[in-house]
Amino acid sequence: MATADWVITGDIVTMDAERTIVAGGAVAVTGNTIAAVGKADDIRQQFPDSPERGSPGSLVTPGFVNAHQHLTADRLVASAIPDDLPPGAAIFEWIVPVHEHVTGDDDELAATLGLIEAVTNGITTTIDAGTVAHPDRVAQAMAAVGVRGAIGRWGSDADGLPQSGPVDEVIDAQRDLLERYPPGGLVDASVTLVGHDLMSDDLVVAAADLARPTGRRLSFHLSPTPNDAASYLERTGHRPLVHLDRLGVLGPNVLVGHAVHIDDAELEALVATGTAVASCPWAYLRLGQGLTERFAHLDLWRRDGRLALGCDTENAGDAIDGLRAAALFAGLAKDTSADPTAFGAHHAFELLTIAGAEAVGMADRIGSLEAGKAADIVVIDRSGIQWQPPSPDPILQLVWASGGRSVTDVLVDGHLVVADGRCTTVDVDSRQAEARLAARSLIERSGIQPRSLWPLR
Ligand SMILES: [Zn+2]
Repeated sequence: MATADWVITGDIVTMDAERTIVAGGAVAVTGNTIAAVGKADDIRQQFPDSPERGSPGSLVTPGFVNAHQHLTADRLVASAIPDDLPPGAAIFEWIVPVHEHVTGDDDELAATLGLIEAVTNGITTTIDAGTVAHPDRVAQAMAAVGVRGAIGRWGSDADGLPQSGPVDEVIDAQRDLLERYPPGGLVDASVTLVGHDLMSDDLVVAAADLARPTGRRLSFHLSPTPNDAASYLERTGHRPLVHLDRLGVLGPNVLVGHAVHIDDAELEALVATGTAVASCPWAYLRLGQGLTERFAHLDLWRRDGRLALGCDTENAGDAIDGLRAAALFAGLAKDTSADPTAFGAHHAFELLTIAGAEAVGMADRIGSLEAGKAADIVVIDRSGIQWQPPSPDPILQLVWASGGRSVTDVLVDGHLVVADGRCTTVDVDSRQAEARLAARSLIERSGIQPRSLWPLR
């Protein structure tokens, strides 16, 4: 008989191959790993006198995967960029000046706040979509909060962007980050390019050559709007994903942010090469990017393509809440196909857990609650009014009715990072107070002027 470090009780949404939900179940955790999943009585017998979290009324799920999140200064101007700007203005008139003035302290503080929000909403794995200047500070924030993820440093060889440089310099900086954050730890690094049409063929091929032999992830942005297709067609004669396929860049280690405005040939290239896509539905709607003209992510999913969900950034999507993104994705899938049978809450919850883990190349470790996997576990309290009366199908109620507000406890790699709805690892109140001061200073230095649209008297 052994003692477990934790026994987590409730109805266990395992996300195993059969999608088994163990009613009245428990998960035993020893060290960083799930030791056993089963009926609570059996688990208690197997692991007597172990500390417990959860309750008979709780729902217990795998930790959620956020496959595209900017953990950078954007947090300090959260929801401050107006939502009625013409296309491109939010980036070039608002966020680029902020990125030009951000300090390492700003980046670490921003990442800390974003990760606290993420983990208190059940997100245990975050793939940084590109930290502009200070990836090490973001890694420190990940370590301090105690979450799993990958950092990324912006790479671009286009003129006029902060952090841009010649191909060799960009690749050396990416290689340096890979070497310092190897796989196997809680935090590693991806080869990360800005993407769009801000990477030369030489750069993207060199980045692919750096990532592929070691199986490291390559991520970049592409086609959230029709602009990228227009510039690739002009420069190369081909649409972006067709061009990148011809260059030999695509493959199972590649995670493309967005790929919203793609045609059939590009969809085919994604499927044929096993290239994954991170879909950030709130960002496309907040920015009015035309997602619903053709919801290509549903087509990708229908073709068994690799797909994960992302929450993007604090001025494009704003809330770092995977369940909120999952509900939106399911609703968009039903509505854009005008077919309520096309895709539902259960499919969306797969994207947030096991399918998302597979898309970011981590399904061997995370995404389901099964013996031998890392102990990334979310406890959802079902005593709140949003759960009354409880549905016989907990996933319907979790995705459509709850959002992240019902998350009470979160374990990452066996450590209790959230208890009773509060982050246990970081002094949240003092970091929030620091963030208010840092935000004021950053806004002043950047010269942007966020204000209330309506008179605030
Ligand atoms: Zn992004």
